[in-house]
Amino acid sequence: MSTIVVFVEHKSGSARRASLEAVGAARATGMNVVALATGPGAGELAAQVGAAGASQLVAVTGADKYSPDGCAADVVALVQSSGAKAFLCANTSAGKDLLARVAGALDCVPFADCVELRCEGAVFTVRRPVLAGKASITTQSDSPVLCASLRPNTFAVASGAGAATVSSVATKGGKVVVASIAAKPDAKLDVKEAPVVVSGGRGLREAPHFKLVEDLAAAFGNAAVGASRAVVDAGWRPHSEQVGQTGKTVSPQLYVAVGISGAIQHLAGMRTSKVIVAINKDAAAPIFKVADYGIVGDAFEVLPALTEAVKRARA
Ligand SMILES: Cc1cc2nc3c(=O)[nH]c(=O)nc-3n(C[C@H](O)[C@H](O)[C@H](O)COP(=O)(O)OP(=O)(O)OC[C@H]3O[C@@H](n4cnc5c(N)ncnc54)[C@H](O)[C@@H]3O)c2cc1C
Repeated sequence: MSTIVVFVEHKSGSARRASLEAVGAARATGMNVVALATGPGAGELAAQVGAAGASQLVAVTGADKYSPDGCAADVVALVQSSGAKAFLCANTSAGKDLLARVAGALDCVPFADCVELRCEGAVFTVRRPVLAGKASITTQSDSPVLCASLRPNTFAVASGAGAATVSSVATKGGKVVVASIAAKPDAKLDVKEAPVVVSGGRGLREAPHFKLVEDLAAAFGNAAVGASRAVVDAGWRPHSEQVGQTGKTVSPQLYVAVGISGAIQHLAGMRTSKVIVAINKDAAAPIFKVADYGIVGDAFEVLPALTEAVKRARA
């Protein structure tokens, strides 16, 4: 049976959900899935990657500090030694970096931000959004190894698939090492991975009014706060929350856009959300063209009422 190598990101032995989605997508092709993880705690991921569909976990040792080029060398070595037909990772910051390095080293085409992956015979087919999300392109890979990153929140995480055997391998090491990571003081959900995103725009008029957006996000319990570029440029919200062409691409189960007009650059980052709700006082705002549900109204009246309704529904 052919093999797919999947890079699994984790935090001290707790796998990132987007990586488990990549394991699930690999498993869905029917191929043998080998997960590779690096850094302290990598060896503790066996149960998680096994349940998600991997038959084997390769824990890279000697890589206490993450090295992008070292990790790429470790992945390439595993792909070559296992004769893998594909390498997959999540389309996160680290995943995008790794994809380019691995594809370059293997002399293969990198397919970034895929939202569909199929394998028929020995041929892989991937689908990716293009033109700022206005279209998608379906491509068949003729590279000897398919190298692809998968958009978070797009593929399902399998559960109870089985157990993964664990083996370890020493890192090849790299020239670049991440010396330290400054963790954010709060442990907020990232917009890219949250199942619900509540985003605010210039319609909220000033920064303190974002409290209304935060309240709705808190009422959902599993939501992240997002923002349009207009409010990020105005300094109301951090760039880490910006959704769109020059911000983050999100694909949550539910995206709520409040006081956001729906400029093409914003749509580029959120139009693949499963359900889109728009709240805007202008019935002609372009955001309504992509919304599944629209509320034409004043955000300052709609948000408190919606927050109370969500709280009641979840009580
Ligand atoms: C190269 C480039 C890259 C860009 N990248 C991004 C990007 O990544 N992300 C992004 O978001 N933008 C991006 N932009 C900017 C984009 O073009 C828009 O300017 C921006 O998205 C507008 O933000 P907004 O919808 O919050 O503000 P506006 O366009 O000003 O819209 C405000 C909306 O709020 C509504 N409103 C006003 N008052 C209320 C109220 N009381 N209740 C309800 N609704 C109300 C209005 O009807 C209006 O529709 C980019 C632009 C360029 C040129």
